[in-house]
Amino acid sequence: MQNQNLGHSIVTSMCGICDAGCGVHVHLKDGKIDRLKPIKDHPLGIVCPRGARAAEIVYSKDRILYPQRRIGERGEGRFERISWDTAYEIWVEKMEDISSRYGPEALCTYTGRGNFEFGFSESFSPSGASGRGTNSVLFPFGSPNATGVGSLCFVSYGLIAPQACFGLQNKNLVDDFENADLILIWGANPLTDSPATKHHKIKAAKKKGARIITIDHRRSESAKSLKSEWVGIRPGTDGALALAVAQVMIAEDLYDKDFIANWSHGFEAFREYVQNFTPDEVAVITGVAVATIVELARALGRAKGCAISMYTGLEYSNSGVQSIRAVLCLQALAGQIDVPGGKLIKMPGRPMHNRVTTQPPPDGPKPVGAEKYPLYWELRKEAQAAELPKAILEGDPYPLRGLIISGASLITGWAEPALWRKALASLDLLVAVNRFPTADSQYADLVLPATTGFEMESYQVSDGYAQLRQQVIEPQGEARSDYMIFAELARHLGYGQLWPQSEEGNIRRGLDGLPVTYEDLKAKPEGIQISMPEMRYRKYETGDLRPDGKPGFATPTGKFEFTSEWFRSHDYDPLPVYTEPKEGPLTTPGMTQEFPLIFNSGARTQSAFRSQHYNISGLLALQPEPLVWLHSDDAIPRGIESGDLVTVRTVRGEVEFTARVTEDIKAGVIEANMGGGNPLGPRVWQDCNVNALTDFNNRDPISGFLVFKALLCEVARVKKSAINDPEVQKILAPIWIL
Ligand code: SF4
Repeated sequence: MQNQNLGHSIVTSMCGICDAGCGVHVHLKDGKIDRLKPIKDHPLGIVCPRGARAAEIVYSKDRILYPQRRIGERGEGRFERISWDTAYEIWVEKMEDISSRYGPEALCTYTGRGNFEFGFSESFSPSGASGRGTNSVLFPFGSPNATGVGSLCFVSYGLIAPQACFGLQNKNLVDDFENADLILIWGANPLTDSPATKHHKIKAAKKKGARIITIDHRRSESAKSLKSEWVGIRPGTDGALALAVAQVMIAEDLYDKDFIANWSHGFEAFREYVQNFTPDEVAVITGVAVATIVELARALGRAKGCAISMYTGLEYSNSGVQSIRAVLCLQALAGQIDVPGGKLIKMPGRPMHNRVTTQPPPDGPKPVGAEKYPLYWELRKEAQAAELPKAILEGDPYPLRGLIISGASLITGWAEPALWRKALASLDLLVAVNRFPTADSQYADLVLPATTGFEMESYQVSDGYAQLRQQVIEPQGEARSDYMIFAELARHLGYGQLWPQSEEGNIRRGLDGLPVTYEDLKAKPEGIQISMPEMRYRKYETGDLRPDGKPGFATPTGKFEFTSEWFRSHDYDPLPVYTEPKEGPLTTPGMTQEFPLIFNSGARTQSAFRSQHYNISGLLALQPEPLVWLHSDDAIPRGIESGDLVTVRTVRGEVEFTARVTEDIKAGVIEANMGGGNPLGPRVWQDCNVNALTDFNNRDPISGFLVFKALLCEVARVKKSAINDPEVQKILAPIWIL
């Protein structure tokens, strides 16, 4: 850490609030963080609204500052301060006790988005797994059970679907927005990404003349900011729309015959299947007009370069993985694979950091959920957390008795909070590692204080850029970095040699093999460019993509797979088939009298990061209350106006929100804010856990992801807004301005 004198000083580092690693100059006043300024020309040189309030977050009175042990009943939230030594003693003793009674597999780690910091995450990833966000610290102990938020986010879109189509995952793919003349933003909202770099690229493309079309149930913040065309769609039906677009492209001869003939597999079966998806029929399913479907197909078929920004909007439906595959098939049909303006495959042989990962135990049972969700397990080498409650409460497939949750809240993140409360209350050991108390930590035996990214040293490497996370301030209280907390746990368990026992040691190990050293990064704290191989296109023609060096893709057939042989080998439909939402107007019409509206949740709230920061008044001021968006066509007959207190009710429960009546959502559809339910911040957010409305057993059968979108609900007014008009406007105003 640099020596800070009294007065003003600056430390160049990364923002330490989320894991994005935005490059910043941290201005300190009398040794305390005052404000952040983006580093000019840094690839992530931005400061978002949360970064702008870093000081308020870091020095919040709500921080967990000392190790604590539970002294009340589980769920009461009563704890006493203990030392780190005592905490490790209790932790290890309880782990050994559980292991002796049930076997080491009865212990599990769960890692959330609050704990994705690069140096930590890369060091604790399971061997063979792509992507970050799982903690393998229990593997040497003998447990295969590592899991985390990947069980409900990103893996369908970023791993399973592209692996099936290209034999590649998203870390090796990138959409070429810079050179696209058509950009589809499909079930994504890049403006609310952390950070919003993709949005800036799309904005620049728009300035150069690219046509931007947003396909979403909302006219999202991105759509509004980009002034894009908006195709409002019924949630959960994106797969049907993609197949209809394919049907028109094929019927009108708007596809790349050379790519299809030479580099694809299963096209004939795909062509036959999409005949079932005529624009007329799909207009009824999706609520998208026939002419719009045809126009989408023509735009895609005629584009010189078509890049597509997709994300979670498609993941949380009954055909999540298959819908994403269907959209990827559109890019293949249009010949937009590894060509300028399309979906690019990154160059092989890029300099990579040293990813020292840990092998799952060679013997013993597979992780929980591996049998039910084999594709998820194959790619992530981890448990599917959707199966944790069954293991905890019913011992199925075997008992799970100890859980270590870091940077996460299962009670707010997953459907049916009551089920999770019951599961957490029944454990023999629950450890919560975090910066702030959560709903889950109220049930913990041990609550351990972790640092923010400003209070530790680490590093980050992205394609072509490496930077040191310089320590900016001393840890608050007795907080320790997540890396050191788990490296020390390994040491206490007798295998500390597997993880360097210092932050510097971890950085040096991670940089091993890169053309930059720890000393280089120290000398250039704003980061260093790493030279990358020059881009070549159509690498499937040159043998760059397959381990055997032959032309083609790294799929079982060596081709882009319209019919996935990997899926077939696991008895999943090899075609990107469409499945109607399990709960919806066409599948369960009997429910629609009581629940006539389509329920959605999951859109990012920019005043928070997932379920964090509702206690930070500077952020809360941006949006003081949880909102539900509904269209005026739905609001007027219900007597609802903006600012009214309303209940959103599903067959599973009801939760109160403030109404935001708008034309920026498809009629018949609502969007309810996620993130509430933790024990901090105002009562309205504490009481507003949207997942009391969602269904734990309604899932995509391939990924195991829960259906957080495309359910049925009703909205009713509880009371008229008691707030005068200007105040209502403040609550309901757009909150993200760029
Ligand atoms: S996205 Fe925001 S909170 Fe996250 S690192 Fe960047 S500035 Fe900080």
